[in-house]
Amino acid sequence: SSETKYDYIVVGGGTSGLVVANRLSEQENINVLVIEAGGSVYNNENVTDTLGYGKAFGTDIDWAYETIKQEYGGGISQTLRAGKALGGTSTINGMVYLRAQTAQIDAWETVGNEGWNWKNLFPYFRKGEQFQTPEKYSFLDGSGVAYDPAYHGFTGPLKVGWSSTQLNDGLAQELNTTYQNFEVPVPYNKDPNGGDMVGYSLYPKTVDSELNIREDAARAYYYPYQNRTNLHVWLRTHANKITWKDGEDAVADGVEVTLSNGTTTVVKATREVILAAGALKSPILLELSGVGNPDILAKYDIDTKINLPTVGENLQDQMNNGLQYDSKASYSKSADYVAYPSASQLFPNATAVGAQLLRKLPAYAAKVAAANGNITKASDIQRFFKIQWDLIFKAGIPVAEILLEPTGNTYDTEYWGSVPFSRGNVHLASADPTVAATIDPKYFMLDFDLHAQVQAARFIRELFQTKPFADMAGDETSPGLSVVAAGADDQGWSNFIKQNYRSNFHPISTAAMMPKEVGGVVDTSLKVYGTSNVRVVDASVLPFQVCGHLQSTIYAVAERAADIIKGKV
Ligand code: FAD
Repeated sequence: SSETKYDYIVVGGGTSGLVVANRLSEQENINVLVIEAGGSVYNNENVTDTLGYGKAFGTDIDWAYETIKQEYGGGISQTLRAGKALGGTSTINGMVYLRAQTAQIDAWETVGNEGWNWKNLFPYFRKGEQFQTPEKYSFLDGSGVAYDPAYHGFTGPLKVGWSSTQLNDGLAQELNTTYQNFEVPVPYNKDPNGGDMVGYSLYPKTVDSELNIREDAARAYYYPYQNRTNLHVWLRTHANKITWKDGEDAVADGVEVTLSNGTTTVVKATREVILAAGALKSPILLELSGVGNPDILAKYDIDTKINLPTVGENLQDQMNNGLQYDSKASYSKSADYVAYPSASQLFPNATAVGAQLLRKLPAYAAKVAAANGNITKASDIQRFFKIQWDLIFKAGIPVAEILLEPTGNTYDTEYWGSVPFSRGNVHLASADPTVAATIDPKYFMLDFDLHAQVQAARFIRELFQTKPFADMAGDETSPGLSVVAAGADDQGWSNFIKQNYRSNFHPISTAAMMPKEVGGVVDTSLKVYGTSNVRVVDASVLPFQVCGHLQSTIYAVAERAADIIKGKV
């Protein structure tokens, strides 16, 4: 009941929140409460089905956040999916388990976060993981999946591997030969989870190989531990804001929640409040609690507790497009075959592209700063952009992700530039916590982002024209050569891309971990600047986009955060 006090309150029982709650409740004398707006989806087939991607979209377990109309992105709004359930977005995501490139995590330290580098994060990737080796499963014979045991953990809570719905007809090998036949070959990468992602590979997923069901944060980090008497979960309970102790200092003492029966009450925390409500919600909860830009808070008559204007800024997402082709074979299983080209593999003239982009960075930074009223400073943004440029053109990170997914009689492809430069924001639109926020990712604000997207589309056309794969595929059915001509330039692709993209569902950085003086919201212990006991542990804190999909990195960050909170780091 609301009379009870907890040592820690974790707001959001999602991907990050359940990791933190699990690890903190390993300490028997510590009481942990998780507040989760959604319910249990343990037996929800839209969740468990390993071929069911998309089935949960638009159902009551999808927040389906809407962006405002995108000024640079075709004038249309986008729906940002996010899981509303115990397990959060890990219950509806694509299950891809793919980490970042070493240099990208090291860039977190470069930007001023001491101790946050690949070397220190890598043990936490492994700590969380329970890798299921493919040779144990005969249904994977011929599938082409491979791994390096040195990169994986085998005793963690989160099952990672491949399931019996994985295709095993030899297509993987044909594609490898095809990529080696490219004008600029894309090398084979046996295991992209060791910090070097560039090349062609088949990544593992968060699945239970034995049972052929999705593995999510609740199955990994909650259900096996639900009998712990010090681990409490309130489902269908909506957190409204943090409550503060009387006095000048910002000391959180609880969370105002609305229970499933509609009652609003305050639940007390004696040690800390940890926000893990996701990149589109945690900054809003900060604003509702008086932490943010005073000008924005004043509009809704919210008293400023902490003047921290960059809350909700720095929003980074990717844009996702697809091309479709007929296939000559028919598929009842599926698989994702991924290519991660570096700049020199994606751009025919990478040096010139890099030089041109470098010249544009000051103008890009000025444009981003002007768009948010100079809340983030052009000089800081320019420094971040140069770090990003170095990652692309010096460290050689993958600059795009190219997925091939056979389904039925079709080859679906998905593609995205992996590190867009555009920066947007998310802010509250009311003091009422049930009112939707204003989300503006500013897709395609900067022209390099379109160029990377176009070049990725061209790369896919090259794939379908290269043997032996070219002989296995039929016509391009979308967009088709009548819509986007062979050899079309950026302008020729622009309309198709901007009218048909979607969010890649990788929003991050809205409560970024960075030094305060360059616009950070949390410090290296993930504590919100100006508070003594409020942390953010979720996708909001990642300072830069990663090339792999987000969840593996988010799980690892949450594992490390738990050790920080326990005082072990
Ligand atoms: P979440 O997991 O979203 O957790 C936030 C939790 O907080 C949720 O449970 C939510 O209900 C709860 N909450 C929010 N507000 C409140 C409130 N006011 N009160 C109480 N509770 C609240 N990543 C990959 O690595 N691989 C993929 O294949 C992949 N595919 C994706 C596909 C889709 C459709 C989407 C949407 C994302 C995908 N991602 C993928 C991204 C990845 O799943 C997410 O980035 C990650 O799960 C986010 O974790 P989080 O802890 O930040 O937030």
